[in-house]
Amino acid sequence: MTSLNDRGDVAVLGAGVAGLTAAAALAARHYQVTVYDQGEQAGRAGCSWWAGGMLAPYCEAVTAEREVLQQGRLAADWWSAHGADVWRAGTLVLAQARDRTELDDFARRSEGCQWLDAEALAAMEPDLAGRATRGLWYPDEAHVDPRQCLPALAARLEAGGVRFAFGQAVQAEDLEPRQLVDCRGLAARSVLPGLRGVRGEMLLIRSHDVRLHRPIRLLHPRMPLYLIPRRDGLIMLGATTVESDHAGPVTLRSAMELLGLAMTLHPALGEAEIVELGAGVRPAFSDHLPKLIRRGRTTFFNGLYRHGYLLSPWYAERLADQMEGTEGLVA
Ligand SMILES: Cc1cc2nc3c(=O)[nH]c(=O)nc-3n(C[C@H](O)[C@H](O)[C@H](O)COP(=O)(O)OP(=O)(O)OC[C@H]3O[C@@H](n4cnc5c(N)ncnc54)[C@H](O)[C@@H]3O)c2cc1C
Repeated sequence: MTSLNDRGDVAVLGAGVAGLTAAAALAARHYQVTVYDQGEQAGRAGCSWWAGGMLAPYCEAVTAEREVLQQGRLAADWWSAHGADVWRAGTLVLAQARDRTELDDFARRSEGCQWLDAEALAAMEPDLAGRATRGLWYPDEAHVDPRQCLPALAARLEAGGVRFAFGQAVQAEDLEPRQLVDCRGLAARSVLPGLRGVRGEMLLIRSHDVRLHRPIRLLHPRMPLYLIPRRDGLIMLGATTVESDHAGPVTLRSAMELLGLAMTLHPALGEAEIVELGAGVRPAFSDHLPKLIRRGRTTFFNGLYRHGYLLSPWYAERLADQMEGTEGLVA
């Protein structure tokens, strides 16, 4: 076994989900890790703060590459093992009566699901009783709250000896460790050809009438919607997918579309309070798969697109494999 001194020190740039999972995987293999972020708190300054936190490999694989299913399956266990409060209640996929072909099509293109009738749906989500006659349940899917799991992971890492430096933008050339892991998300665009931004808008609402127990995906031909319950009684509504790297406030159109669709799921959501609106910009390559790219002493871990929480555990472990020299590069 290599000793701690042989492994040496690693600087991780960025404390979003990529940077923190990378730090966790490297610290577990006895590297001395320092994480730098320009924000004031882990996960807070980038795209990761706005995410839904769904660990939904089966649903995502309907529109993504096959790798997403294979690599995403380990995410829930990885997050549990790293101190996250993981909800393991699966995902429900519903559609309005006029969009039932969408639901049939979704079922055909996915695996890992069961059909539920109205009675079974009502037993699972009592506040949605009578709102749908059938739906799909993906029992092996899970979710985390990004605003819980990232600070929790950072605190755990810090307690284990990982150092954090917040509050300043850092350039790779300012740092002197043996190895560098660049997890700056979209900020690395100028040095990573092909990396682009895909804007995602979301809302947090509080409903006193509708309580959910698992993420609900409402299929729709133009704009699918999901609603994700959090422990604090909030529901996250998301998300738009806009080809833009603009991280500014949510537009009126997007807010109206997301809220309008939510009310088709249950009219009582019209009485919910809007607690927060926000947008993040997902870093994406053209194939929508993450990449580990090695250049000299720097490895870039980027392009997590819609799957930061789902795929970063798998890629972080592969990154640590590479740095130990046990595996080739993932191009
Ligand atoms: C609305 C929405 C919903 C989503 N839902 C899900 C979901 O349900 N499940 C899922 O798996 N994924 C989801 N995602 C995707 C996920 O959020 C992203 O894939 C992920 O956040 C990308 O993480 P990252 O660490 O690469 O980037 P970021 O989170 O942007 O982190 C980059 C960090 O680098 C820091 N940084 C940048 N430049 C510097 C510098 N020079 N010096 C120091 N620090 C620097 C930034 O401050 C930032 O903290 C969603 C995204 C959005 C927008």
